[in-house]
Amino acid sequence: MPATPLRGGRFAAIFLTTDRAQRTRIVRSLWSVALIAICVGLIAYAVQSRLVAPQEGELLSGLMLASSLVFYIALRSGFNRRFADPALTLPQILAALTWIAGAYGATNEAHGGILMFVALVLVFGAFNLTPERARLSSLYAVMVMGSVMAFKSVDDPVRYQPRVEWVYFIFLVTMVPTVVVLAAHLDRMRQHLHGQKADLVTALARIQDMASRDPLTGLINRRKMLEVLAEHAALSKRNMLTFSVAYIDLDHFKQVNDNWGHGVGDEVLKGFAAASQSLLRETDVIARWGGEEFLVLLPDVPPGSPVLAIERLRSAMAGAQLSQTEPGLRMTFSSGIAGHRLGEAIEETVERADRALYRAKASGRNQSVVANA
Ligand code: GH3
Ligand code: MG
Ligand code: MG
Repeated sequence: MPATPLRGGRFAAIFLTTDRAQRTRIVRSLWSVALIAICVGLIAYAVQSRLVAPQEGELLSGLMLASSLVFYIALRSGFNRRFADPALTLPQILAALTWIAGAYGATNEAHGGILMFVALVLVFGAFNLTPERARLSSLYAVMVMGSVMAFKSVDDPVRYQPRVEWVYFIFLVTMVPTVVVLAAHLDRMRQHLHGQKADLVTALARIQDMASRDPLTGLINRRKMLEVLAEHAALSKRNMLTFSVAYIDLDHFKQVNDNWGHGVGDEVLKGFAAASQSLLRETDVIARWGGEEFLVLLPDVPPGSPVLAIERLRSAMAGAQLSQTEPGLRMTFSSGIAGHRLGEAIEETVERADRALYRAKASGRNQSVVANA
């Protein structure tokens, strides 16, 4: 699938890089920066409203902004690529949980609302972490939040009443199984999708192969051969090296069907295809053009030259066993050979080979006629 071009101009290239994977990671990290900016605003408001002590508010805001900067630098510089998880999701989540625990301890009467952020970060983790890492982040949330709750309910039992802290703690703990189950479920879905994608890639390759092959002989079919010829025509235009095509038609093939039946006819076609493939060069391409007709692409054979490969094939066929049912059956073929003229349409080359073939048939069969260069 062709990738869509990256959006944004020079500004985006400077701040978000031109690397697609890195850009996705940076943009995702910037979402948490936006959230942190809102939190810093809220802390400023809380300081103003005397809900948070100024030094604590400044310290917390400073740490949050500093960690955002550290993560941005790590991602922008490419330092993150050294790690197994280059998105640095787990460290970013652990940092966020730490600052949330700090905010919980600093926001006094308003601290209950902070629990929502814990839920937000853990759910984000469930979507973006492996199940083990999601479990780890949940465990860390319970530990760090539990510690702050315990400390504050002892240190400041008026604003952090122990009975309320217990309720919050239970809230927190009940959230964990949900997050863990969600993470496992999402992981299974991801793996399922990966598996389906791999199956689709295999199926597509099979379908492409089926669409380009003749089922009887296993040779490439006419459709595929036209593609191959077009590629060669384009290539020869560039490097000025031309090629020839040989149009092969088995002689009196109808009689094989008439005398021995269609099954033997099929055997002969298969036998002819297999024998030709083993006799021709690696670089020659043979296709079943239709019925008892075959087309051979002969690279580096200039127009007008007699084609030794085809004559070698002819003498080999004289002694080749093509049918197991009728081992004594021998076939001859006629062929018309045309060299591709630079810039000529490929259909025109084939047409000239076909006309040469007609002359070979008219002149008594079992021979090649080379079309004029
Ligand atoms: P000529 O020397 O003039 O080429 O004579 P011919 O008998 O080879 O030519 P003609 O075009 O009269 O007959 C071609 C035969 O090929 C007719 C058709 O039934 C047979 N044929 C085409 N495709 C297949 C196939 O897949 N299997 C079999 N068994 N026969 C096929
Ligand atoms: Mg024919
Ligand atoms: Mg024929």
